[in-house]
Amino acid sequence: MAKIRRLPQSVINKIAAGEVIERPASVVKELVENSLDAGATRIDVSVAKGGIEFIRVADNGCGIAFEDLELAVASHATSKISDAEGLFHVRTLGFRGEALASIAEVSHLRLRSRTPDSDSGGEIYVEGGLVRSIAPCGCPVGTVVEVRQLFFNTPVRRKFLRSTTTELGHISETVAKLALAHFRVHFTLTHNDRPVLQLPAAGDLLERIAALYGQELADALIPVSSEDGAVRLYGYVAHPAFSRPNAKMQFLFLNGRAIRDRNLQHALNEAYRGLLTVGRQPVAFLVLEMPPEMVDVNVHPTKQEVRFLDSGRLYSQLLSTLRREFLSSDLSTRISAPI
Ligand code: ADP
Ligand code: MG
Repeated sequence: MAKIRRLPQSVINKIAAGEVIERPASVVKELVENSLDAGATRIDVSVAKGGIEFIRVADNGCGIAFEDLELAVASHATSKISDAEGLFHVRTLGFRGEALASIAEVSHLRLRSRTPDSDSGGEIYVEGGLVRSIAPCGCPVGTVVEVRQLFFNTPVRRKFLRSTTTELGHISETVAKLALAHFRVHFTLTHNDRPVLQLPAAGDLLERIAALYGQELADALIPVSSEDGAVRLYGYVAHPAFSRPNAKMQFLFLNGRAIRDRNLQHALNEAYRGLLTVGRQPVAFLVLEMPPEMVDVNVHPTKQEVRFLDSGRLYSQLLSTLRREFLSSDLSTRISAPI
């Protein structure tokens, strides 16, 4: 066996990138999450060739100070937590301080940013983890990140990319999820200069659902809501007639984050038991809000899976909330859907 050696930072960054940046949609997710954390009210995503060639995310958020530009793209550098205690009170979508460093490690990344109290902005350009330039530039308040040549130095990952259509599908699914979780924010998604999603700021979740999936579905949704201690559950579930052959239209959001949770998905299916024919899946948009202390988001690099302090109690809350709504909204009298 060879001697044990400490890995160079660039290798460490590539390993981290491998965990978080799987495909163009992962880049979009991380960049849009940063824009949301920056308090943006408008986020414009534009991509070319399924994001493989080009990704740009522009926001009108708080911006990054010129002197912080280099730190922003450094690994384990974040403005969101400052100590281990902070890990248990995370209210932002990011906190690992790894996304920009990971993306910059495997692409050509250009970031332009300006804070409201500065007259001019700054631009940093990073190629495969190497900072090539940092210079002042004129730009509006907010941040624009452009990513080109994704995976240029990780050929295996590049080879695993699918067709433009598939990658664009993942990107638009990613933006849709973030747009549902943050319906007050104005979102646009453009592919090869053609608009894919145009989502003006919505007043409530239902309005955003209608903008994404059509008024017909929105009109047939049943509102649900309940509170159990500090846990608030609300959202919409569809009449059984709107069920789907797969679980793609099941959305679960926790404190502004789209998550997957087998336990809660099971509770959802259990609530629909007897209402759906075999092989059909319910449609649901469910939002959970709880104090950050009640959940550990630091279990998975992409944070799509979390660990609840009391998952059994959540299961019961979801199941009983849905059952109660189903009983009170006599399902048999409602429309039969065309899907
Ligand atoms: P994290 O989001 O986990 O902190 P990132 O690597 O995604 O790590 O970002 C590093 C830092 O760069 C953030 O903590 C934030 O201070 C800053 N930053 C990144 N993107 C933006 C943005 N769009 N607007 C303002 N600040 C940003
Ligand atoms: Mg981030």
